[in-house]
Amino acid sequence: MAKRRPLIAGNWKMNGLLADGLALAAGVAAKRKAEPNIPCDVLVCPPFPLISEVVKAVAGSGVAVGGQDCHAKVSGANTGDTSATLLKDVGCGYAIVGHSERRTDHAETDAIVKAKAAAAQAAGLIAIICIGETLAQRDAGQTLAVNRTQLLGSLPDGANAANTVIAYEPVWAIGTGRVATPEQAQEVHALIRHELVGKVGAAEADKMRILYGGSMKPDNVVSLLALPDVDGGLIGGAALKVDDFWACIKACG
Ligand code: PEP
Repeated sequence: MAKRRPLIAGNWKMNGLLADGLALAAGVAAKRKAEPNIPCDVLVCPPFPLISEVVKAVAGSGVAVGGQDCHAKVSGANTGDTSATLLKDVGCGYAIVGHSERRTDHAETDAIVKAKAAAAQAAGLIAIICIGETLAQRDAGQTLAVNRTQLLGSLPDGANAANTVIAYEPVWAIGTGRVATPEQAQEVHALIRHELVGKVGAAEADKMRILYGGSMKPDNVVSLLALPDVDGGLIGGAALKVDDFWACIKACG
């Protein structure tokens, strides 16, 4: 089975000021222009206020820009929120939805994540739907059940390989420096692929990208990307340094 084209996505979270974001975006864009043929898609997801400037900074480089969240509605009285339609309008190609920090800090349920993913898709964005178990759930032997429930509850009906990416992010590995072993990652990725068959059909499930996220960095990226059902990474900390992010991208080459 041919591997899917990897996606390497940087989630900048709530880090950096304008100058930092512009320098990071310009650095990634310059690297991509210098090495356009590394076979992967490259995405950066800045904080909302930086998106328009980052879109300009990466223009013509092949680097895509995405939001870290979006609202389920197109417009309305939703102070502090951002619609997928607006993300698309200002030049985004993707929106992350259901990141564990959103699920925890903003009480986002699977139903909310599903509605956000549907809104992203309706706006013409690719939804990156995040799922993952906590350490307590893993220790209780609930890893596969939790990921199955989150996946099936968060995936909109119209999902297909062109408008959806799944990100498996074990919560205990995010920002902790503790990475899933290749066996742990592959076990969950294989489960996700299997469950996708029932939801979107075998052909779409085979094409849909499933990213690993959780302390992915230059010294572990090669072994993770080598796994049969790992199709890229959603990278936090290591995406804040051009050289580290680029080393992850080089691992696709
Ligand atoms: C993330 O932000 O989704 C993430 C995986 O962060 P980190 O790479 O820092 O663990």
